[in-house]
Amino acid sequence: MNCPLCKSTELVSTELESNLTSFNCPECGGNWIRGAEYWKWLEQNGSDLAERLYEEESLHLAEPGKPIDCPECRFRMVKFLVGRGLDFTVDHCEGCKGIWLDRNEWEALKKRNLHDDLNSIFTSFWQTGAQREIRKKKLEEIYISRFGAEDYAEIKRVRWWLDTKTNKEELLAFLTDRDPFNA
Ligand SMILES: [Zn+2]
Ligand SMILES: [Zn+2]
Repeated sequence: MNCPLCKSTELVSTELESNLTSFNCPECGGNWIRGAEYWKWLEQNGSDLAERLYEEESLHLAEPGKPIDCPECRFRMVKFLVGRGLDFTVDHCEGCKGIWLDRNEWEALKKRNLHDDLNSIFTSFWQTGAQREIRKKKLEEIYISRFGAEDYAEIKRVRWWLDTKTNKEELLAFLTDRDPFNA
């Protein structure tokens, strides 16, 4: 079986975790996990996957890429947003349920303890949340570029403070009106 990205490079069976076999590409470092393998591993490890601490090191992740085809059944794979602060996508084959992870993506998922949540990531519920997260982040970037980071932080603080007031409308009117005593 060849790498869906590097095409001519053959994938090599490796042990990604104990009891979890993946097919690794020696060229791009990607991993192909068969659906059945992943479910089997999930069942075995279940909820008591111990939370382990990993050294904080910046992981080099591949650029979010072009569409790729399943190395086993040739289906065009679907990209799923991970979210939760991770801005890459995971490729999933709807045909054979296999999972393609680019270089270091498994490690990045593990750091956030999301590596046993791939089944949830492939749901529309998760995807809706991840999309909302991205929209919010984009909006923040727009505000920051418009107001500057410092003013944006300040206006957010003021807005939060206003939200705690029962006379919010009155305060807002005062803020936006010209000072009547100085007119
Ligand atoms: Zn490759
Ligand atoms: Zn497939």
